[in-house]
Amino acid sequence: MPNLAAGFYLAPASKEPAQAGLKIFDAIRSCSVTVREVVVDRGYSQADVEHWAAPLLNRGIQQIIDLKGDQRTVRPGPTDRTLMIDGGIYTDAIPEKLRHLPPPHFGMKRKARLALAVAYAARSNYEFRPLNAPDPVTGAQRFRGPAQKGEQATLRCANFPASLRSRGKPETRCAETGPCHCGITITVSPEHRLKDRQPVAWQSPKWYASYCRRTLVESFHADTKFHHSGFRRGFVRVLGRAKEGLLLAFATLGINIRKIRQWFWAREMRDPWLAEISDTSDPYRTSRAPSRRQKHASPALHRNLTNEVAQVTPEDVAEALRSAELAHKKDRKRRRRRGRRRRPPPPDVN
Ligand SMILES: [Zn+2]
Repeated sequence: MPNLAAGFYLAPASKEPAQAGLKIFDAIRSCSVTVREVVVDRGYSQADVEHWAAPLLNRGIQQIIDLKGDQRTVRPGPTDRTLMIDGGIYTDAIPEKLRHLPPPHFGMKRKARLALAVAYAARSNYEFRPLNAPDPVTGAQRFRGPAQKGEQATLRCANFPASLRSRGKPETRCAETGPCHCGITITVSPEHRLKDRQPVAWQSPKWYASYCRRTLVESFHADTKFHHSGFRRGFVRVLGRAKEGLLLAFATLGINIRKIRQWFWAREMRDPWLAEISDTSDPYRTSRAPSRRQKHASPALHRNLTNEVAQVTPEDVAEALRSAELAHKKDRKRRRRRGRRRRPPPPDVN
């Protein structure tokens, strides 16, 4: 599918972007289209809970987000014997070494990033999964423990014998430490770290496959500014938000039409929509030379991810963890030094 604009909302740059995003969802819903999931950058996900995460929950929309440093922590979970790690809910049977995984660092190679994702996937075996969508009235959501569902359990726990039927999954040492919550269902209220929660474990291969879809909107921005149009200061020469909005709506419609046409061209197919709008002015291109960029570009991360993840060896994972940990330590040291430099000098006691 080509990436197209479903709508836009004009607002002063100083205004809260979250409000603009919510208005778009409401406009889409008024066209009888249901939005269930949204992939957003930190400009939205870092907004106050009452301005973004809570209104999304009320609209039945789940968000896929990247986490900031202060969200990547280990906290007590919503119930006893659970932990909240990097926005996910985990059983406290999770081994210590999987609790604090380093984040990927800037400039990390694709193979190393995938190897790191495999380490995060190993952690997600201990995660509680959403059992249903949040309650539209109370916002409470039910999660099932990782040792539920017998053969499909992601964790083997002796306290929940049915989970021992699952093969190739890690086994806990809960029997030695007493009763645990690995296989129970819990209800989590919306107040509990709603801002950090998402349906897939942060940095796991599933999260990559989902979050990497966000690059599509960046390429759409490039299309509006450079490739298919010239959205910039002075692009429309009228005053007033209503007039500007009307003209920009026509421009966005034009960009969408061009992108659809290009999508069909790239696949050497005839664009059915041109006939639909009675536009016969564009020639039908039957063949095209592949551009240099397309020839050499590596496939997007979300494509063929499963095959690539299967090729990652335990040595690759260990190496990726080592390099990410080192980069993370360096980064923390640099930030601390920068913070010290910014601190004002102590007052003169004389
Ligand atoms: Zn257990």
